[in-house]
Amino acid sequence: MSKEGLLVVVSGFSGAGKGTVMKELLDRYDNYALSISATTRSPRPGEEEGKHYFYKTKEEFQRMIQDGALIEYASYVDNYYGTPREYVREQRLAGKDVILEIEIQGALKVKEKFPDALLLFITPPSAAELKRRLIGRGTEDEETIASRLKRAGEEALGIEQYDYLIINDDLDACVRETHQIIQMQHQRASGNMDLIRRIQKELTEISS
Ligand code: 5GP
Repeated sequence: MSKEGLLVVVSGFSGAGKGTVMKELLDRYDNYALSISATTRSPRPGEEEGKHYFYKTKEEFQRMIQDGALIEYASYVDNYYGTPREYVREQRLAGKDVILEIEIQGALKVKEKFPDALLLFITPPSAAELKRRLIGRGTEDEETIASRLKRAGEEALGIEQYDYLIINDDLDACVRETHQIIQMQHQRASGNMDLIRRIQKELTEISS
């Protein structure tokens, strides 16, 4: 049986480019599965149901909460976002490292429920660069950009609670670093207790 996959949370300011980093990570390496969230926000042009998000009404979202179908959920700039439980469980059992691309309130809830989860925070090199990327994306109006920048300022106060900070200046380097950090997490002694116990047992046997 393959070892259970890791739970990897990736957060970053809206506009930090984490979507691009995640897409590249999944294209380059086989061992990842990206969790698809449920949200009450409307699809942006080009977004598809079941590929980018599962788009829900407020009532449908509330029902998912009541049914215990979400690992975590949070409200973000007037909408709800949440992680469906079942896909994450299935993929981890199949040995895949599951990536949750979620904001900070949700990330901290995941850490509470799954203390072994790895929390990564992706940031552009500066606030000016973040604003430039948000405007350049051209998908949000001025007011939404202003709310997202305000929210980024609030989120920045929680970065210390993450395990690793990754600066997204050069896409290629950022993808490689993200992959390396996740791979290192696989080597942690506390995540390999079965192997450790086996070696301990073998050593007792061999020397008796
Ligand atoms: P966007 O509207 O730009 O797609 O996403 C807005 C924010 O919600 C982003 O920071 C994104 O990472 C976060 N987000 C997306 N899905 C989830 C989720 O399932 N749970 C939480 N807590 N945040 C999410």
